Amino acid sequence: MDTILVVNAGSSSLKFEIFAAAGSLTRQIKGKMDGIGTAPHLTIKGSGGDRLADEGYPSETVPDLPAAMRLVGQWLRERHEGQLIAVGHRVVHGGPDHMRPARIDENVVRQLERYTPLAPLHQPNNLAPIRVLLEHQPQLAQVACFDTAFHRGHDPMADHYAIPASYFDEGVRRYGFHGLSYEYVAGRLAEIAPGVGDGRVIVAHLGSGASMCALYQGRSVESTLGFTALDGLPMGTRCGQIDPGVLLYLLQQHGMSAAELQDLLYKESGLKGLSGISNDVRDLLASDNAGAALALDHFVYRIGLNAGLLAAALGGVDAFVFTAGVGENSPVMRARIAEKLRWLGASLDPRRNNAGELLVSNDDSKVAIYVVPTDEELMIAQHTLAVIAN
Ligand code: ADP
Repeated sequence: MDTILVVNAGSSSLKFEIFAAAGSLTRQIKGKMDGIGTAPHLTIKGSGGDRLADEGYPSETVPDLPAAMRLVGQWLRERHEGQLIAVGHRVVHGGPDHMRPARIDENVVRQLERYTPLAPLHQPNNLAPIRVLLEHQPQLAQVACFDTAFHRGHDPMADHYAIPASYFDEGVRRYGFHGLSYEYVAGRLAEIAPGVGDGRVIVAHLGSGASMCALYQGRSVESTLGFTALDGLPMGTRCGQIDPGVLLYLLQQHGMSAAELQDLLYKESGLKGLSGISNDVRDLLASDNAGAALALDHFVYRIGLNAGLLAAALGGVDAFVFTAGVGENSPVMRARIAEKLRWLGASLDPRRNNAGELLVSNDDSKVAIYVVPTDEELMIAQHTLAVIAN
């Protein structure tokens, strides 16, 4: 049986999935090595949720991502019975030029390394497992699937910042992220509601990272994320849109270093920073603390504001789609957000919303509201299969 391995490497974790590629793609294995370098732990589950591995390792055994990749590779060679035909990687940054997934070779890796300054926290981690496989299994086909690629059809005008244009040429431009999720959701919507999927759609990807995307005829025309994954909506621990004057103030008046600023904006801000309690929406919903209420109110408010922004980019809205952790699982948050879309003519059906149906708006709503679970890993597997088939 031919199989595809999907790899999603973060700063301290390596997530992976195996799909059987017999006609359609079927998920077989889902695994995660977390605590890399501190308290490494490998968990692997089969397609029925059965536990195939649940094992801790000394930090010296798995000090970094390459070591994690080697260990996972060894587990797969010993225990996985399929014939691995390709590996698809999530790569956060494809730079200005990659509009679609790319077959990986030395040249492509060198090119992708050039984008590390644009995503210093993510790109090196994404590339580390690619390097390990290139070295140890050079014959194995590898495909890079980019979070930025889906947004590359934007009007270049929209992707400019109003700073001297030479910076745009250097790569300082709006890229947009979560593209694999939006591409998957756009594809699903085309299946579920073909007429709607062809129109003007706003998708809200609300997970621990959060953004929104404006789709027209299934293509991205605008995103709330820009040069980095810090822009737009407040997120679990990231600040979202902020006046750059605040950064100047922190640098000049607080004497913050670039590293301290990076830590503040990526790790200590967003819902966590505002609430002082947690980055997890579930914790905030369960709390009666004033900080938790402020954080949730602000999150909902900013989603509403950004819906207006994207509605303007589209010249109107036919449908609004919730996806990712919060969007898929929280009827309460969906209801609160839908209230902010009332002026657009959107009206939620409480029964459908509480039941978590696919269509959660009522029959009179001028904007159809959907809940579409995302599946970035399946998107990567599909891309990988398509690239190697060519
Ligand atoms: P990631 O961006 O890490 O892939 P997810 O899309 O899995 O994140 O979303 C994770 C977030 O979803 C959690 O931090 C939590 O805030 C939120 N979440 C998950 N389930 C629920 C729920 N039932 N109610 C509210 N929020 C939820």
